Amino acid sequence: MATKKIYDYLVIGAGSGGIASARRAASYGAKVAIVESGRYGGTCVNVGCVPKKIMWTTASFADALKEVKGYGFDITEGRPFNWLTVKQKRDAYIERLNGIYEKNLDKDGIEKINGIAKFINPKTVEVAGKQYEGKHVLIATGSYAWIPKDIPGAQETGMISDGFFQLEYLPKKVALVGGGYIAVELAGIFNALGADTTLFIRHDEFLRAFDPVISQTVMKTYEDAGVKIVKSSRLKKIENTGSNVKKSLNIQVEIKGQMTAADAFTGFEEIVYAVGRNAHTEALNLDVTKIKTDDHGYIQVDDWQNTAEEGVYAIGDVCGKAMLTPVAIAAGRRLSDRLFGNKPNSKLDYRNIPSVIFSHPPAGSVGLSENEAKEKFGEKALKIYISKFTNMHFALTEHKEPTVYKLICAGPDEKVVGLHIVGKASDEILQGFAVALNMGATKADFDRTVAIHPTASEEIVTMR
Ligand SMILES: Cc1cc2nc3c(=O)[nH]c(=O)nc-3n(C[C@H](O)[C@H](O)[C@H](O)COP(=O)(O)OP(=O)(O)OC[C@H]3O[C@@H](n4cnc5c(N)ncnc54)[C@H](O)[C@@H]3O)c2cc1C
Repeated sequence: MATKKIYDYLVIGAGSGGIASARRAASYGAKVAIVESGRYGGTCVNVGCVPKKIMWTTASFADALKEVKGYGFDITEGRPFNWLTVKQKRDAYIERLNGIYEKNLDKDGIEKINGIAKFINPKTVEVAGKQYEGKHVLIATGSYAWIPKDIPGAQETGMISDGFFQLEYLPKKVALVGGGYIAVELAGIFNALGADTTLFIRHDEFLRAFDPVISQTVMKTYEDAGVKIVKSSRLKKIENTGSNVKKSLNIQVEIKGQMTAADAFTGFEEIVYAVGRNAHTEALNLDVTKIKTDDHGYIQVDDWQNTAEEGVYAIGDVCGKAMLTPVAIAAGRRLSDRLFGNKPNSKLDYRNIPSVIFSHPPAGSVGLSENEAKEKFGEKALKIYISKFTNMHFALTEHKEPTVYKLICAGPDEKVVGLHIVGKASDEILQGFAVALNMGATKADFDRTVAIHPTASEEIVTMR
């Protein structure tokens, strides 16, 4: 048998977290290798944040085209929107990014190993018949979405978000299933681009993980924009009355416990499921280690990203907590700072992580929701400020979108413990305010800050 290669740091998964951690370790002089079974960059670059943001931007241009008339532009619509052109340009953009990721790894002297990693003992993995050992081993294998197995016809006719990015045409009529941010974002994109869009959700509201001001405002805006939201629904059966090339899908649904007619929802060309994710851990053969996982395969780690196996760590989506790219990156870098950079106290603080929903309009959130704040501080200790208005962007447009900002303050000094915003440019506004929350800003600090006029965000520092 060939001798096995030994590294200071063996990273499994070249996604957001794995690459960031590997490169940080290499910057301290560690001998690093990274194993990847797919495309470099992982979910975010290939089938997540990046192509999604491009599609959101595309959809935002569709919105803008409707708005410019109000500002005196006469846009005569000649050619229809071309989905395939955007897809091809988006794919080329991502291919360039894949190349940049690979080059950066080479530049940093990190060895790339292509294939599926499988543990054969706690510090050694096998990839394509060869063995590799790490003095320290990082699992950063991410997560995957799935199509429900218990809905007859769903597997044969549906897709997950990965399939959305492979679509070569804009369906005329499309269904989405799920109430999380991915389903809401994809529904917003389809609807803005002109698809007849139906969103099936299990409860009365979507985005339930966020403050109600976000879920309620975004839901109302979606309904006003024509998205059909089927609440308290469960898909029961999918039937394709078209062909495999051109599908025509009938969906049988249970709504509030009542079964609809078999043909209540008909003629869908595509169905996209975004109903949850599982950890990418099956292939890893974790049974040869002491690593513990939960029912969805997510790896259990402590505050330092340590697994139950000494010298083996996990970061990012595979841990199932705050599943966002910057979280995976930050946790990975902090871990390498601790292991190789002589920073023994380096770890990620998971509090006050800002996140944005690229809905139409976008929304963002940092800190505690109203319910979480009530639980932590008690209702009496809270002061809540809300501001609702129409952004000046819509001063001359026929169509108006709402902007709603909510500030949650706690205690006698009114420390700002939560900020939830919906409205144009929320995606860009939130980051700076997240710094303020992390620094422990109070309402008085916000009030002391001179407003920037005329903007929407000035409302956040002038709330009464
Ligand atoms: C549609 C969609 C939109 C999203 N939008 C956003 C957004 O706007 N903002 C945001 O912050 N986050 C977003 N996310 C989430 C974000 O993509 C993830 O949180 C992030 O990619 C997690 O990084 P990671 O390094 O943990 O895993 P990943 O990026 O998934 O990387 C894991 C890598 O490990 C590889 N791998 C798996 N198993 C093995 C194995 N056994 N051997 C070798 N390699 C293996 C995989 O091929 C993959 O490349 C989105 C996700 C989706 C699906």
